[in-house]
Amino acid sequence: MKVKIPRRVTVGAYEYELRMVDTLLRDDRLLGRCNSDTGIIEIEPSANTNIRAVTLFHEIIEAINLCYSCKMEHDDIDRMAHGLAATLQRDLGIEFDWEDIE
Ligand SMILES: [Zn+2]
Repeated sequence: MKVKIPRRVTVGAYEYELRMVDTLLRDDRLLGRCNSDTGIIEIEPSANTNIRAVTLFHEIIEAINLCYSCKMEHDDIDRMAHGLAATLQRDLGIEFDWEDIE
């Protein structure tokens, strides 16, 4: 099943715009970044779709962590992102379509 990655996601009272930013890895050595001040989640487009999915979940979980004061450690956020991406893609057969934000 294909699922379109939307242009915007909502976390609690916050809305984030999803953007592909092709200088993230080169300039900042990052695959993704979540900025709650600007309401923008950036994803590095050169990453393959599996890495993009992990990165997107990572950034969304970062936003959840902040919004709900979960106090999760950064490594835990990463482990959850990997677990979610694997389950959704491998076990549930979800294929993410990035077309709308590319
Ligand atoms: Zn992070």
